[in-house]
Amino acid sequence: MPAAKPKYLINTFGCQMNEHDSEKIAGLLEAMGYQPAGDREEADLILFNTCSVRDNPERKVYGQVAGLKGLKQRKPDLKIGICGCMVQQPEELAGIKAKLPQVDLVFGTHNIHELPELLQKVAVGEGPVIAVEEDSEEIVEGVPVRRESRLKAWVNITYGCNNFCTYCIVPYVRGREKSRDPEQILAEVTALGEDGCKEITLLGQNVNSYGRDLPADRRVDFADLLRRLNPVPGIERIRFTTSHPKDLSDKMISAMKELDKVCEHLHLPLQAGGNRILQRMNRGYTAEMYLELVGKLRQAIPEISLTTDLIVGFPGETEEDFEETLRVVREVRYDGAFTFIYSPRKGTPAAGMPDQVPEDVKRERIYRLIELQQGISREKNEEYDGQTVEVLVEGGSKTDPEILTGRTRTNKLVHFAGDPALTGELVRVKITNVHTWSLFGNLVDAGV
Ligand code: SF4
Repeated sequence: MPAAKPKYLINTFGCQMNEHDSEKIAGLLEAMGYQPAGDREEADLILFNTCSVRDNPERKVYGQVAGLKGLKQRKPDLKIGICGCMVQQPEELAGIKAKLPQVDLVFGTHNIHELPELLQKVAVGEGPVIAVEEDSEEIVEGVPVRRESRLKAWVNITYGCNNFCTYCIVPYVRGREKSRDPEQILAEVTALGEDGCKEITLLGQNVNSYGRDLPADRRVDFADLLRRLNPVPGIERIRFTTSHPKDLSDKMISAMKELDKVCEHLHLPLQAGGNRILQRMNRGYTAEMYLELVGKLRQAIPEISLTTDLIVGFPGETEEDFEETLRVVREVRYDGAFTFIYSPRKGTPAAGMPDQVPEDVKRERIYRLIELQQGISREKNEEYDGQTVEVLVEGGSKTDPEILTGRTRTNKLVHFAGDPALTGELVRVKITNVHTWSLFGNLVDAGV
């Protein structure tokens, strides 16, 4: 009888970048003969792919790894690993070594491709094995990926960030911005199209600065990259995240308008609406510049949906500054917003700013912001009532497989009754009912 394959479980915290890194980790493990475990009890390897953007996920990792002590005693061969942004911070790495002796493997965001050899070292008893490179000049291509969806795929185009927003830990843990070779990106997207993928999301901390570091003979910017990817057969929709407002050029807006596969949705983080706070955040734009951009986008692409990130309670934020944020939110009328209470990250300039805002003030402000945005989101969705929209069908709902779910080009979630065999198809749905976070409708055309 062949030996049973070892099983792995990955717990992923944080952003899409991390989710995609976990797909690469799974791809490497499956190339080594591992298979996914249903739960912790049956796993031979448990990995925690961590996030440093906020304090809470980091505390959770300590709690969850500590909670595996009993399982490790019952299953001494169980291997536990921690990877991702958290281990890129020297203080956290020291904390892991000191407080979590049950951890066998620690590897950084620049060491993912080394996982097979690191696991070999763990297997021969060299643990705990630690491989954390601070930054890397080189982008390692060809890492196998086990994608969560065949229909939709994330594709990295840049790694790291050069912006140093004063609240953000990312440039310290993910290193300087590096752009992937456009030919490598094109080859990956072409292979995805051949494999039945319909929608790609290009990933980078700031996709709009793509290409600036490429050698002169291969330099293309993000708008050029979109133009190269638009004709790829099989791919129906192109999305991207994240766009920094300071680098969103007129050329980019023209590309978004002209390219048929680039979806009419843009996530454009504002963070704050007051210029004093934007300056303290080192965001590189003013509220006026941001509003001008929104005007240009809406003029070029009137149906575009806009979403954003907003931070309340940044150090020094007064009631007047916060009201500036509310003013911009009212003026832009976002389709949706991710709202965050500012929490200091050790090692960032904002954490050391003296005028931190009291927690109760932050909480009171975020409630006001959420209430305002929810009302606007609902009103924006009401504009869809009675409209017929194109939906990419992602599958049936968990509770009723005949209720299908998909998204519009503007990234609205739509539910409607239909045959599960439509999964992966572009269909037309007439919207008959709207909620704050989703739309409901009737199928009018099964083939677009
Ligand atoms: S652009 Fe600013 S917020 Fe975004 S990853 Fe870079 S430093 Fe962080």
